[in-house]
Amino acid sequence: MKDVIIIGAGPAGLFASYEISTKSNLKVLVIDMGKDVEKRECPMEKLGYCVNCKPCNLLHGVGGSGGISDGTLNLRPDIGGNLFEYMNEKDAMDLVKYVDEIFLKHGAPDRLYKASSEEEEYWSRRAASAGVEFVQIPQRHIGSDNTRNVIKSIRDFLKKRGVEFLLEKKVEEIEKNAVILEDGTKIETKYILIAPGRPGANWLKRQADKLGIKYRYGPIDVGVRVEVPAVIMEPICRINHDPKFRMRTKTYDDFVRTFCVNHRGFVVKEKYGEFIGVNGYSMKNKFSNNTNFALLVNVTLTEPIENTTLYGESIARIATILGGGNPLIQRLGDLRKGRRSTWKRIKENLIKPTLFSVTPGDIAMVLPHRIVTDILESLDMLDKVIPGVASDSTLLYAPEIKYYAIKVEVDKYMKTNIENIFVAGDGAGVSRGLVIAAATGILAARGILKQEGIEC
Ligand SMILES: Cc1cc2nc3c(=O)[nH]c(=O)nc-3n(C[C@H](O)[C@H](O)[C@H](O)COP(=O)(O)OP(=O)(O)OC[C@H]3O[C@@H](n4cnc5c(N)ncnc54)[C@H](O)[C@@H]3O)c2cc1C
Repeated sequence: MKDVIIIGAGPAGLFASYEISTKSNLKVLVIDMGKDVEKRECPMEKLGYCVNCKPCNLLHGVGGSGGISDGTLNLRPDIGGNLFEYMNEKDAMDLVKYVDEIFLKHGAPDRLYKASSEEEEYWSRRAASAGVEFVQIPQRHIGSDNTRNVIKSIRDFLKKRGVEFLLEKKVEEIEKNAVILEDGTKIETKYILIAPGRPGANWLKRQADKLGIKYRYGPIDVGVRVEVPAVIMEPICRINHDPKFRMRTKTYDDFVRTFCVNHRGFVVKEKYGEFIGVNGYSMKNKFSNNTNFALLVNVTLTEPIENTTLYGESIARIATILGGGNPLIQRLGDLRKGRRSTWKRIKENLIKPTLFSVTPGDIAMVLPHRIVTDILESLDMLDKVIPGVASDSTLLYAPEIKYYAIKVEVDKYMKTNIENIFVAGDGAGVSRGLVIAAATGILAARGILKQEGIEC
């Protein structure tokens, strides 16, 4: 019998076990269907596309989706989730600082990307004059190559504190005070913390339906990955590793944002179940001549259909069919002219793609007209802030879809309406990035400790 079982060894699960094991003697078992961090070799890094290993080494295992990711720490309570939903501003800032200190202690680099007040004023004014908001975020860049070392250090620390890991085992079912593994093994426990990340979001929904855990549907983001010459992003990337801009479009007044900027990075093909999509990554020791970033339109649905995941999947399905199993690539100039891109046009293009498992095509055949309009308008707005972003040679890859799945109803300690069941991280819809996933893990841990009468 364990005291706490944590499902998922991503940032939410690791930081939850960190908090519990440093503040109590409770027996913690972390279960993950993926491999240990050293074994998480991802062929994607060598081949430039995801080969869909099972479980996917990019998304599963110790470190979670962040385990071999780019590792940009966005040190703001309202980026990658929103801690203000659960606490006041000071407590939220303190929690982000606490997460950052743990990352630093385990090898995250000291360098903090933060604009000076003059730089911030310059970019804010420049953006505002184009109807764009520049979101200033202090950031730390661990880098894909170094993230593993940081995760290893945290895992070793946890093991020394007595945390047990059960890896390459999927939790099939959750029961009250027990979990059942895929081989039928039942492990009893007092508390369960469910932190399965985005890859486990559908599974979590099924468990929530079965157990009566309350939730609602969150919005999704649908858009493209934009690839431009690195040189035009240099001035902004010098002060912000992952610069964030937000805007509202002219025609539809839709909310659009830049996300996950990979300066001198690479675009990558991803496979979510049967569907393909795109993402980006950058490395500390390997560079391209391009910079890529996601340009995402926020979509919320109201009655009669609130299930945004189904909507996103239906777009991904069309993209998978039209791309013949590969993401689509299109020159912005071709999208403007209403014609598909061809390999000839892509080869003659001034900007050379960093992903080749793509099909030149017409993104307007895949994304809804409203989203294509939003993308074209927001790129033109962004071009006034960063000249060159909306040139005809700019490359667009589609689809890039961020599913936030369901949002579980929780109190400020991530406790669900079911006794002794807590949630944390992206899978429960309470975060969308490394830092806030870790922070929600800590909150859940504190909730468990509080129930045990241990004050933090
Ligand atoms: C390629 C890529 C790059 C990214 N780069 C950044 C970045 O630079 N900065 C940033 O802030 N965010 C980044 N993110 C997002 C970030 O990784 C996630 O927000 C974060 O990892 C979420 O943490 P989590 O603990 O909630 O879930 P995850 O990290 O997804 O971990 C969940 C874990 O649960 C396990 N699991 C799921 N279901 C089960 C089950 N039934 N049984 C057992 N185990 C299960 C999975 O195997 C997984 O290891 C990136 C994501 C990707 C995919």
